[in-house]
Amino acid sequence: MENIIIVGTGCAGLTAAIYTARANLAPLVLEGKLPGGQLTTTTLVENFPGFPEGIDGPELIMRMHQQAERFGARFDYGIVEQFEQRDGVNRLLVDGKWLETKALIIASGASARWLGLEREKDLVGHGLTSCATCDGAFYRNVPVCVVGGGDSACEEAHFLTRFASKVYLIHRRDSLRASKIMTERTLADKKIQPVWNAAPVRYLTDEEGEMRAIEVKDTVTGEVREIGVKCVFVAIGHTPNTGPFQGKIECNAGGYIVQKGGTRTSLEGVFAAGDVADPVYRQAITASGSGCAAALDAERWLTEQE
Ligand code: NAP
Repeated sequence: MENIIIVGTGCAGLTAAIYTARANLAPLVLEGKLPGGQLTTTTLVENFPGFPEGIDGPELIMRMHQQAERFGARFDYGIVEQFEQRDGVNRLLVDGKWLETKALIIASGASARWLGLEREKDLVGHGLTSCATCDGAFYRNVPVCVVGGGDSACEEAHFLTRFASKVYLIHRRDSLRASKIMTERTLADKKIQPVWNAAPVRYLTDEEGEMRAIEVKDTVTGEVREIGVKCVFVAIGHTPNTGPFQGKIECNAGGYIVQKGGTRTSLEGVFAAGDVADPVYRQAITASGSGCAAALDAERWLTEQE
């Protein structure tokens, strides 16, 4: 029986790991499908306090990982397939094996959303992606597009201007949702061409099955047209990773875990931190903050049990 298991190794999970490890709880930390979380798919993080010149996302994560290990956190790779609470014990089926723990911190983050167009799954890796940092460098001197109008879409578009000949920013409305500073930067960039009121309809491929264009429909005039691009970067937000916990822990309409006073969830001994429970802020620093809060809540709860 573990004292505490932390699911997820993004900012929330790693901060919870640092705090619970320093409290001598020797947490077991499970790395999921994307070890290190969303920061591993970004470049420069400019708004995490303490790094006036910015710090690369993967490096920030690596440092948090090392910090947690230094205090005795144990890391293991594994996907949580099932969850149940039986006689007050939290049980997780991880890669076919049941793990038991007194306290559980869910910090499984959120995953990129897709448009839901035909052939979408098959096209990933053939000119369709949700990660500019991962795939941008493959598309040098060719036109590409980003779909979305939030901070992520703007950030991706900027990053892609390093490689692509042109970056279309395809947005379904005529104004961006992104913050003021990002909006101004994006609209001032000559390499980025906004395509307003444009709803993606389908992906078009060449004879080799690689992306050649995206078809969009003008939401005002109804006109349909093709935009020739070698890659489509989808940046339309995220869905919380609550799979094995759905129906067992209270979630809101958007699927995010509901926190009940601090980081407590609807189940005794189960705490939630970071993007899996945060539809509002979704920042690295807020995820770290809630990871810290979950660690303190879990530690207090364990003490109460004794
Ligand atoms: P977001 O703010 O939710 O924006 C998603 C965008 O995708 C919106 O513009 C939305 O259009 C569009 N969209 C959603 N579904 C669509 C669909 N089916 N078809 C076409 N377009 C669709 O998501 P985000 O940009 O990932 O940002 C999430 C949070 O992280 C925000 O709080 C943001 O500030 C934060 N963030 C911060 C930074 C930073 O500070 N450096 C960087 C990235 C993200 P509508 O506008 O019409 O709804």
